[in-house]
Amino acid sequence: MSVPTLLNTVRSHGMRVSTARRSVLEALDAAGEPLTAEELAGGADLASTYRNLETLESIGLVRHVHLGHGPGRYELSGRHDGWTTCQLCGRSTPLPSPALQAIRRAAREAAGFEPDFTHFALTGRCAECRAT
Ligand SMILES: [Zn+2]
Repeated sequence: MSVPTLLNTVRSHGMRVSTARRSVLEALDAAGEPLTAEELAGGADLASTYRNLETLESIGLVRHVHLGHGPGRYELSGRHDGWTTCQLCGRSTPLPSPALQAIRRAAREAAGFEPDFTHFALTGRCAECRAT
């Protein structure tokens, strides 16, 4: 979704497109990875940034994900299907959908379990840390 489409979705929910909401959506659109509320707030009020994130999450535009031990991070919904986070170096990398589908299928067949990778990252060791 482009930023104008995101802003139209905010309006279609009867919500105001404030400067703060617009800047949160623009920052998330420009970011290559999920950002913390502090990163999104910049110098602005952190509490109101959290409120705006909750509002945008409540209408499905934004979601939060936990990558390792740090604070929750925010990204535009639908941008990534799942993440991996290295327990050694802390680097997070999105996992391509086919890989996630294969893992889901394996868990379903083995245990009738349907994993959801959108809220918590898969943790383990990245290729570089495994090589050293
Ligand atoms: Zn690593």
